Amino acid sequence: MKQLQSISIVVPCYNEEGSLRRLAAQLQTSLESAGYSWNLILVDDGSRDDTARIITELAQQHAHIKGVLLSRNFGKESAMLAGLTYADGDATLIMDADMQHPPQLVPQLVEKMVETGADQVVAIRDRVGDSRFRSALARLYYKIANRLMEDVELIDGAGDFRLLSRRAVETLLALDERQRFSKGLFSWIGYPTETIRYANQASNRERSTWSFSSLLDYGMDGIMSFNAKPLRVVAVIGGIGFAIAFIYFIWVLVQWALNGVDAPGYITMIASVIGFGGIQLLALGVIGEYVGRIYREVKARPHFVVKDELGF
Ligand code: UDP
Ligand code: MG
Repeated sequence: MKQLQSISIVVPCYNEEGSLRRLAAQLQTSLESAGYSWNLILVDDGSRDDTARIITELAQQHAHIKGVLLSRNFGKESAMLAGLTYADGDATLIMDADMQHPPQLVPQLVEKMVETGADQVVAIRDRVGDSRFRSALARLYYKIANRLMEDVELIDGAGDFRLLSRRAVETLLALDERQRFSKGLFSWIGYPTETIRYANQASNRERSTWSFSSLLDYGMDGIMSFNAKPLRVVAVIGGIGFAIAFIYFIWVLVQWALNGVDAPGYITMIASVIGFGGIQLLALGVIGEYVGRIYREVKARPHFVVKDELGF
């Protein structure tokens, strides 16, 4: 049994004018009836719509709602981190603003933490209603990612909707890397983790803020930020290519010694030039990707810039 005096709820918001009031009201209903003391930290991630104004209003009207306005759009990872630095509860819940993380579930998450004493309680969604293509792609990604990543295990559907204990939050904040891949970081910090399951919800927005290419970027980020295995993979590909070329070379040499035939020239040349050129470019690309990441880490810019703090 763990005592939880207070709960902070962190919500990164980017163009969420349509859902904030409803979200705040629903959280109020479900938390108040459960009798928890809580506060809500709404982080405006440089929205282009009325989100910032609505957050300001909410923060003025309700003592337990606070607002953090970032100076521009920094992306969900940074907005979440910003919220976590302001969270002061014994436990902190992270959730999306677009109603895909149902507020009714919050008391259940809290109860689970109280009951089990776990440091992380994760709500895992199913994929009902997702397109078949998207689910298949996700499955493939998780398979590849889990094979390539050391130290962490990603679970399909387990994302940012989770309740963290105070020390889990502290540990997360102590990880100072620039390119944050939360899904991996949550798993990396460890601690006893419990899960609950819930049904996939439709977003109240037409489209996700994620484009296909941003998802691809995010996926690559995930794999690259946890190890250097891709470097090893290209090294192995290069090694295999070299071994094949060497065997072929010996074979041609033996042919020449035995039969005196001309070495078969043109096709072989083209094939090897293209083959090795390709392997080299691939290897360079992978190395370049890591160099770029080192570059960003070394600059060590802050993750976000706060423009305004409301209600603190
Ligand atoms: N979000 C954010 N900054 C961004 C993009 C998204 O803070 O640049 C927030 C967004 O407001 C929402 C959450 O991150 O609360 C998840 O975004 P979205 O619903 O677009 O992602 P998905 O549900 O497709 O994962
Ligand atoms: Mg969403």
